[in-house]
Formats: sequence, structure tokens, C-alpha cells
Amino acid sequence: MSQTHARPGPKSNEWFERAQKFTPGGVNSPARAFNGVGGGAPAFIDHAKGAWITDVDGNDYVDYVGSFGPMILGHADPRVVEAVQTQAAKGLSFGAPTGLEVQLAELITEMVASIESVRMVNSGTEAAMTAVRLSRGYTGRKKILKFAGNYHGHVDALLVNAGSGALTLGIPGSPGVPESVVADTLVATYNDLDSARQAFEQHGDDIACVMVEPVAGNMNCVPPVDGFLEGLRTLCTDYGALLVFDEVMTGFRVHPGCAQAYFGVTPDVTALGKIVGGGMPVGAVGGPAEVMKTLAPTGPVYQAGTLSGHPLGMAAGIATLEQIRGGAVHQAIEPQLDKLLAGLNERAQKHGVPFLTQSAGAMFGMFFTEAKTITRFDEVAACDLDAFSRFFHGLLDNGVYLAPAAFEAAFISRAHDDAAIQATLEAADKAFAAVAAG
Ligand code: PMP
Repeated sequence: MSQTHARPGPKSNEWFERAQKFTPGGVNSPARAFNGVGGGAPAFIDHAKGAWITDVDGNDYVDYVGSFGPMILGHADPRVVEAVQTQAAKGLSFGAPTGLEVQLAELITEMVASIESVRMVNSGTEAAMTAVRLSRGYTGRKKILKFAGNYHGHVDALLVNAGSGALTLGIPGSPGVPESVVADTLVATYNDLDSARQAFEQHGDDIACVMVEPVAGNMNCVPPVDGFLEGLRTLCTDYGALLVFDEVMTGFRVHPGCAQAYFGVTPDVTALGKIVGGGMPVGAVGGPAEVMKTLAPTGPVYQAGTLSGHPLGMAAGIATLEQIRGGAVHQAIEPQLDKLLAGLNERAQKHGVPFLTQSAGAMFGMFFTEAKTITRFDEVAACDLDAFSRFFHGLLDNGVYLAPAAFEAAFISRAHDDAAIQATLEAADKAFAAVAAG
């Protein structure tokens, strides 16, 4: 692989030099680092608007990262920006309730059928962590079941065979997580119901919850096979465990009613993040009132947060969900994503590059493989990572920004108009040529 790339440019390089002096690896989240694509400076961003993101050297890119999911309306959506600006002028945070928290909770409960009651937190990680504690507190059981390649944030007990940056950097567990903390974490194979059934046969009476990404988005984009989510629902019901959907990524992205509406499977507890905060640091955990009342102050399971329900995050979340609610955003995105994926497949074929796309709602994945479908983590791991790296840099050099890792899903927004798709496909033509050249 060529080590010289046109982009990012000298100013990103300078910021990266400075960043590395004061921040581990120069980034505040490992998924932003270019370690998985040959190293070097990541693009430092100056601003973004709609489908486009602009780095400090003035390079414009069509953006398929969307802040790793939240920006389904496109960057700097006028209604969201205005809502945040208006609220900021009234004060940033009070440590007392506001009507905004109520309004966002009302929107969430209206849009997500399984949620009657919701607690706001500050990130997807917190939402997943709270979902686990709530499940353990509610059931009085200790064990949790997760799936290899599913990522639920950097929660100690869930950082076992995790996806996303933990895969790119080769840290399936992590130093700093004592064995005792993960002793009650069982790991099964995503899309393999038998492996989950075996876990229940051995430990059924001790399992508090099954935690699953309803579309796996931290091992590229892997939708559930027919019967997988339904089977988990049945197992949980039969054994008295809670089914937790981690919809931090899929929530409001796969469907306005979340992945649970798209697939027609109802979880007990849902973890939300990303879109629910419209680009601000917000997460939420919700479910039936009867389960949620286990949380303090109504119940004994402690959970709290100085900045939880933050007014700016609530304002951005409300302005975002109000636009998603009627379905127009998803209706606008669907034909654009179809055009994009058809165009990508066409160009891959033209250059003789083995290539596969998969999608669910407004998230998608690209695989460099001969396979016709990818359903398991070992199949994801067997894809050609060097080809991805060449493709990534080919796109970046030609003005398209993907997450710098083969294990991340990609995200499209309402702002990806025909011009953005066309620019992407022209860049992809060159990037596939680079892949074919080896
Ligand atoms: N769960 C899932 C499914 C995620 O994709 C992520 C983040 N990518 C998280 C949890 C953690 O969210 P956060 O990064 O906001 O803590």
C-alpha cells in the first residue's frame, strides 16, 4: 500500500503533531485514529454543512461518518442549530428539571412502541451500562449474555469480544478490566441462535439479560438473519431474562420507530444514543414503566448524572426527532441509498473488485469479499482489510470521508442529494481502480 496520500493536508498534520503531545494517540476516541488504515494524521475538521464536511486544509468531503451516526438530518441542520442557540442563551445547565426533558421523553415514548418510561443519560456507553444494572436489579440475577463483535460502549462488563475500535486495535477485552468484572459476562455468536440457546441451557436461571445490537454496526453492517431476534425474544421470555436492544446506533436510523419496529421484535429494555441527542452528548434507556421504576428515586437501582437531561442536548434531540417522526426523513434517504449502493456495486464490478454491500434503513456496510452475504463475525474478519485500506485512502484523496476502519458501519443522511451521491461514485471509480491495482 502506498504510504503517500494527498489528504489530509499539512494543517491536519500540524494539529496531529500537537495533539499527540497532549492526548493519547492524538484523539479522544480511538475510532477516529487512522491506525486501522495504515496510520498517519486523521483529517482535523473545521466545519460541516449538510452532506459535506470540510477539514482544516479546506478539503471538502462527502461525509459517511455523520459523527458516527447522529447526523441523520445532515450537518448543521437549521432547526437543530436554532433550537440549541435559543436554549444556550437561556442558560446551559441547571441541575433541576426542565420541560425539555419531558418533551423529549414524550417524543421517544410516542415513537418507540416498547418504551413507556425513559431515563436520560449522557452517552451510549452510559445507556448500555444502565441497561445492564437495571436488568440485574430487576431480575435479581447476575449473568449477562452478549455477542462477539457487538459493541456496547466501553462498559467494563461489556468490553468482552467487543467490536468497533476494540476490533481495529486488536483489544477484544482490555487490560484494566479485572477478570472478576467479566466473570458473569457470557459471549455467544451473533446470528447463531443455537449458541445463545446453549448459554441459556447452561445458565438460564442466572441470566439477567441478553444484550444485542439488532443490526450489528460495530463489525461493519450485519443485519440479523431471519429468526435470530425473534428467537432471542422467545428465549428471554421462556427463561425470565430481559431482552435488551442496544439501539444506540440503530435507534431512529433504521426506522423512525427504531430497529424494533423495522424487524417487528419487541425488547424489554432499549438503550439509545447518537440520533436521540441530535449530535449532542445524549443517551437514554427506556422500557415498560414497571421495569423502569426499579431505578432511583422510585426504586433501589442507583443511577444518576449531574448533566443528564442537559438542556442543549434535549433541545437538539427534540428538533431532530420531530423531523424524523412522520417518516419523511427515511423516505427521502431510501432512494438515495439505493442509488449509492447500486452505483458502488457497478463500479466495483467494472474494476473486477470482489465487493459486497449490506444495509438496514439508513446505515450500510461495504465488504471486500467474494461472499454473497455476511452474517457472522468470523466472515467479517476474513474480508480483505488491505483492500479496504486502499479504498478508504482512494476515497479520501478524492473527497469522500469514511470511518477509518473496516469494522464500522457507514451512515447516510437526508442531505445526501444527487450531487453528493454523484461525487461519491466518481471518487469510488478511482478508489476501486486503486484497489484493483493492488
Ligand atoms: N452501543 C452501540 C451499539 C454503539 O454503536 C456505541 C457507539 N458507537 C455505543 C453503544 C457507545 O456509545 P457512546 O460512544 O456514545 O458511549
